[in-house]
Amino acid sequence: MDCIFCKIVAGAIPAHTVYEDEQTLAFLDINPATRGHTLVIPKQHAPDLFSVPPEALTATALAAQKVARLLQQVVRPDGLNIVQNNGSAAGQVVMHYHVHLIPRWTGDGALRMWRPGQTDHAAFAALAEELRRAQEA
Ligand code: 5GP
Ligand code: ZN
Repeated sequence: MDCIFCKIVAGAIPAHTVYEDEQTLAFLDINPATRGHTLVIPKQHAPDLFSVPPEALTATALAAQKVARLLQQVVRPDGLNIVQNNGSAAGQVVMHYHVHLIPRWTGDGALRMWRPGQTDHAAFAALAEELRRAQEA
């Protein structure tokens, strides 16, 4: 398996593990945005949010909350971002589903997530309608 996170799960390459259970693993990001930047992954390989099985997704979400609380207790940030990239257009580099937990401090300037766009209620209404209809199909 040519997947760096599967190699970490298998113990084939080292990582600074902070939490582990039967289905998930959490370890420090090798190039942290801030102190305590942690990745939470399902042990089972799946590339992204679109493909990760529900049980692995649920286990990863629950592990992310545990690790977020751990970071809150130990690293004592002012806040914390969850970032989760899907596809190279969205900045995903490692194609094994993972959740970033990024502790934040007031004024740290560590992340800028998006530039707010324009409000367009007519376009929003049409898109919301299209999305609701797609669920009926
Ligand atoms: P992505 O951009 O795919 O959401 O984020 C991948 C993250 O994995 C990056 O923040 C990167 O620093 C981290 N990363 C890549 N390779 C390794 C590795 O071998 N070990 C660890 N601990 N983190 C890694
Ligand atoms: Zn993998």
